Amino acid sequence: MAAIELRGLTKVYPGGVKALDALDLVIPDGEFFALLGPSGCGKTTLLRTIAGLEAASGGSVLIGERDVTGTQPGGRDVAMVFQDYALFPHMDVTDNIAYPLRIKKVDKATRRDKAAEVAARLGLEHLMDRRPGQLSGGQQQRVALARVMATQAQAFLFDEPLSNLDARLRLEARTFLKKLQRELGVTTVFVTHDQAEALAMADRMAVMEAGHIRQIGTPAEVFRRPANTFVAGFIGSTPMNLLDGVVRGDTLEVAGCKVAVPAVAEGRLSDGEKIVYGVRPEYMTYSGEPAEGGMGGKVAIVENLGASHLVTLDVNDVIVQTVVPEGSEPAVGDDGYAVPRRDRALVYRDG
Ligand code: ADP
Ligand code: MG
Repeated sequence: MAAIELRGLTKVYPGGVKALDALDLVIPDGEFFALLGPSGCGKTTLLRTIAGLEAASGGSVLIGERDVTGTQPGGRDVAMVFQDYALFPHMDVTDNIAYPLRIKKVDKATRRDKAAEVAARLGLEHLMDRRPGQLSGGQQQRVALARVMATQAQAFLFDEPLSNLDARLRLEARTFLKKLQRELGVTTVFVTHDQAEALAMADRMAVMEAGHIRQIGTPAEVFRRPANTFVAGFIGSTPMNLLDGVVRGDTLEVAGCKVAVPAVAEGRLSDGEKIVYGVRPEYMTYSGEPAEGGMGGKVAIVENLGASHLVTLDVNDVIVQTVVPEGSEPAVGDDGYAVPRRDRALVYRDG
C-alpha cells in the first residue's frame, strides 16, 4: 500500500488542450479518494497520468514516496479499472483475472490458485469457465475488480467503474466496492461524474473543473461548505439555490426580499456589496403563511421526490426551490414562503 502525491501535475495534449493545470494533491495511504467533476474536466487524464499511460507535461507523480514520473506503467505498481472493464472477450474468467499475473510471469498453478481465491471473494467462483460475453454487466464488473485485486497493487485506480450498471446494481456495487476497499486497505482513486456516488463512497474527495481542483475535503465538508458557486451547483441531489443579492446594512436583499445574513458570513460583509446567496432546498422550510425572514412568492411547480416534494416558487421573477415533507406540499398557484436556515445558508463572492 502506498500514498499518492501529485506535485504541480500538468498535462497538455498535442493540439494544445490543457487537461491538467498544475495539480497538487496528496492522497494518504489506504484512503478511498473520489475524484468528481463534469465530463471533460480531466478525470480520466488524471488517472491515466498516475498510471503512466499518459506522460506528464510537467510536475511529478509520487507513489509511496517514490518518484515515478518517468517510470513505465508496469513499474508503477498500480492497477486500473476502466469504464468499459476492458476484459478480453476470448479468455474465460480465470484467464481474465489471472492476466496481470501472466504478464508478471507467475507460474500457471499459482495463477489459477490466486484467480480462484479472488473470485471466491467476489462471488464469481461458479463462473470461472465463462467468457465475458456470457456474463451480465454486474458480473463483468466484478471480474474487472477481481483482475485488479489479483495484481496486489499498491494502489487502485477506478475510472467510472459503475457507470455501465443499471441503477439498482450500481447501488449494490457501491456498497460492495466500498466494503472491499476497507478490507483490503488499498489506496484508491475513484473517478465519477456522479456526485451522489462520490458523497456516499469517499473518505475524501476532490471536485474538478476544466483541469483544476476546485475543492478537496470530506464529503460532509464539501456538501456543507462548497468552496465556490461551481462546487455548490455541482453537489447535492437537488441543485443549491444560488441567488444574486446585495448587502443592505445588517441584512441581505435577495430576490426583492429581506433575508438574514448567514451565520458563516456574519461580520464579513460590507454594505452595498454584491454577493451570491446560496441555500440548499433541503435547508429551507416552507410555509403557507407569511413568515419572518421568508421569501414569499407563488408556487410554480411541485415535483414528487418520493418521500418529499420539490417546490419551485416564483419570488419576484426569481426561481427559489425548497423541499417539503410528504403530505404538506402546496398546490401550484398557492402563495408560499420559503424560510432559509441561517445556520446553513452561505454567501459567495465568485458569482
Ligand atoms: P473526463 O474524464 O473528466 O471526461 P478527460 O480527461 O477524458 O476528461 O479529458 C479532458 C480534456 O482533454 C478534454 O477536453 C478532452 O477532450 C481532452 N482529451 C482527452 N484525451 C485526449 C487526447 N488523447 N488527445 C487530445 N485531447 C484529449
Ligand atoms: Mg473520463
